[in-house]
Amino acid sequence: MKNNSWVLTTLLSVITSVLVLTSVNETYINNNFSVVISLVSGSVSLVLMAASCILAIRVRFFEKLFGGLDRVYEQHKWLGIWALILLGYHFLVRAGIRGPDSQSIIQAPKALAHVIQGFAAIGLAAIIVTSLNRNGIRYSLWRWIHKLSGVVFLIAATHWLTARNVVPFISPAGIWMAVLCALGAAAFIYRLVMYDLVHKGKAYVVTEINQFPRGMQLAVKPKDKAIDYHPGSFVFLSFKKKGMSEPHPFSVASAPKEDGSLSFVIRSEGDWTRKLRKELEVGTPLQVTGPYGKFHRTNNGESEVWVAGGVGIAPFMAWLENMTEPPKSPIHLYYSYREDDAIVDIDQLQTLAEEKGVAFTALCSTKGETLQQEHLNVIESAKDKIQAYYCGPEGLCMALQGLMRKTGIPANQLKTELFNFR
Ligand SMILES: Cc1cc2nc3c(=O)[nH]c(=O)nc-3n(C[C@H](O)[C@H](O)[C@H](O)COP(=O)(O)OP(=O)(O)OC[C@H]3O[C@@H](n4cnc5c(N)ncnc54)[C@H](O)[C@@H]3O)c2cc1C
Repeated sequence: MKNNSWVLTTLLSVITSVLVLTSVNETYINNNFSVVISLVSGSVSLVLMAASCILAIRVRFFEKLFGGLDRVYEQHKWLGIWALILLGYHFLVRAGIRGPDSQSIIQAPKALAHVIQGFAAIGLAAIIVTSLNRNGIRYSLWRWIHKLSGVVFLIAATHWLTARNVVPFISPAGIWMAVLCALGAAAFIYRLVMYDLVHKGKAYVVTEINQFPRGMQLAVKPKDKAIDYHPGSFVFLSFKKKGMSEPHPFSVASAPKEDGSLSFVIRSEGDWTRKLRKELEVGTPLQVTGPYGKFHRTNNGESEVWVAGGVGIAPFMAWLENMTEPPKSPIHLYYSYREDDAIVDIDQLQTLAEEKGVAFTALCSTKGETLQQEHLNVIESAKDKIQAYYCGPEGLCMALQGLMRKTGIPANQLKTELFNFR
């Protein structure tokens, strides 16, 4: 698993810094070094915010480029974090540009410029506070405040247009920033106003509910057209019932079928999923939007190790169901679960795996059974030919990465899906 989340941020930062520095008069740079650094950080921050807004619109092209929606959100997150850090610096070490070399792109009254800066500071502070407390805050509230970052971006872009600046608008830096800001603003407005209208999804109805103490299994079938997906994909589910309409992401836990039906394994994690378990009924209509994600099995004949943690078993259930012939090389599925938290029938899962020719080991973490190096050594193959797949919580993923390092399985032979967008 390669972590490339720094690449886009670094690339955009370098391009913007070089363009800004080459657009400013050299004597000005020498005489106003700290002002120029603040100017560069403000400009880079604006570009990163614009790029972050652009990535938020869930375009298939970005999924292909970065290897799945979760990776796109990872890039989006880091662009946002660095944009806020640099914006904070720009605020604290104010550029305060004066003198004959400077002019604003759009003339605005001084008072308006101060109001703009004030709003940007309040928005910035709100975002930083919620980001620092991201796990202590309800997701729906977090998402609402998160939308403020788009507003902060629009305010920052207005500040760029109205404040005195030594970077001419008609210059490589000015044009670069103008194009990115225009695209970023359009993307933000599209995401806020148009996205849900354009991506309505397909109409389904709930056909079966199977309750477990800490979750449920759910089957749905299309009313008309079904979505077309690869096993391992995830979709957003939005139920037409009071308090259940907010779209939430879930991996499809079944292989594509002729009647278009889908099944899901849903853990009761918070308010929304708990309500679902308590109140959802057979016959409830829902919208299914997607598919998304790139957690697809490569199936290139290499030995495979599949590791699932808890509800992370869902995409592997779809893979298993989808296998029409025995694998050409050995596959071993390790399923780590908590005894008090089981949301699948382990015997049924074992039977399905064995029917498909996949070796299966259940590891009950509450009984002290954990993934060990010997589990990876069981796979008879050259270590650099083992393809590993992981879906589950972040902690187990890190443990698996550590074991892979010890066993000699290269890190880039691991493909993951983490159930977290924040
Ligand atoms: C790609 C992907 C696939 C997933 N597949 C499954 C699955 O097959 N089975 C399963 O049980 N869970 C899955 N999840 C997790 C599931 O989406 C969350 O557990 C669920 O949305 C929690 O909602 P809640 O309001 O009950 O809990 P909360 O306590 O409010 O949220 C718990 C966490 O879920 C995430 N979350 C909550 N609401 C949303 C939302 N509207 N959109 C995006 N993320 C949200 C946030 O990271 C949050 O921190 C998946 C998540 C992702 C990102």
